[in-house]
Amino acid sequence: MKRLKSIDQETIRRLNQKKILNLLYRNNKLTKQDISQKLDISIPTVISNSNDLIEQGFLQEAGVAESTGGRKPTIIKFIPDCRYSFGVCITKDRVRIILANLNFNVIHETNFHMPENLCDFKDIIIKVRNCVEKIINNLNIPLDKILGIGFSLPGVVDEKRLFLKNMTNLGIRNIFFKEFECFFKFPVFIENEANASAYAEAFINFSDTKNSLIFISITEGVGTGIVIGDSVYKGFNKRAGEFGHMTIVKNGRKCNCGKMGCWELYASKKALLDEYRNIFNDDKNNLSYFLKMTQTNQKAKAILDTYVDFLAEGIKNIILTLDPKDILIGGEIFPYKSFIEEDLIKKVFESNSFYDKNQCNVMFSSLGENASIFGAAFLPMEKIFFL
Ligand SMILES: [Zn+2]
Repeated sequence: MKRLKSIDQETIRRLNQKKILNLLYRNNKLTKQDISQKLDISIPTVISNSNDLIEQGFLQEAGVAESTGGRKPTIIKFIPDCRYSFGVCITKDRVRIILANLNFNVIHETNFHMPENLCDFKDIIIKVRNCVEKIINNLNIPLDKILGIGFSLPGVVDEKRLFLKNMTNLGIRNIFFKEFECFFKFPVFIENEANASAYAEAFINFSDTKNSLIFISITEGVGTGIVIGDSVYKGFNKRAGEFGHMTIVKNGRKCNCGKMGCWELYASKKALLDEYRNIFNDDKNNLSYFLKMTQTNQKAKAILDTYVDFLAEGIKNIILTLDPKDILIGGEIFPYKSFIEEDLIKKVFESNSFYDKNQCNVMFSSLGENASIFGAAFLPMEKIFFL
């Protein structure tokens, strides 16, 4: 995420336009005078740049405000429907596709199940393309209003080369999304699912770019996205945030990654369901059934307690490593927030001599199950808001 940093003479105009767009994105409408004051740029610069943005369709004039002396100031308004973006979220069970406007209002949504015996990953992309074309035709959206399509993937991703190295829990590896670019009439973007979620959280909910935020995505596995300062920290080999594979139990359960005792084998949604199914010898009922049971059944409650213990241990390690301001939990575990959140926060901070709960905010994501797919849709939008 290239933020509003590298300023030189050539880019000042573009930078001012991005600043104006960011400000109006968060405030919806402001007078030219307000924009000038809040961004500390001159009124003629605001007028010239907002005229450009009006021409590009991002903004429009929306009447005048009350005068505080002199001419009534013109109000400028952000137009969220001036551009759209497709977001695609691929999980083990299904592929979800949304079309969103710049305010992340979902204009259309569809999904399909992952085929049971997937031979060629290309088949998934062809299905996605068919859904996308249908949406564009049905809604009659001009192609020049579509910024692109972003894919959120539960695996190791090199987003610049459009290369998916692997999705361990889906048994998929070495996929070149570059080969799929010709399937779409607009740019293609990819990102790791936890990073995409962290992007979405940081952009939509945290306007203060000085934040440090960790997104923990709990699904089949556990992924983490790290926002430090004003960008997602990826690491030298693009593998930063693989906390799901830190050892939490020495010589513990065997992981798909080849190691033993990885955190995700104890803290993923799958781990919780597997534990219930093993202990209760029940391979039919789902997580909702089990979690309701924890209200009345002591054995079920003990399984949940152990799960939350493991989740808390991992989070403590993350806090000690990165000292973040916010830790947000999301992914497929999100619907079960009410069974987990309160106990989890208690366990993270009890007998913790390093931190108390006022020093690191641990909570479930406010974007619910949408963090990952909003992050996917954000990938093509990024260039609108940032240099
Ligand atoms: Zn592992």
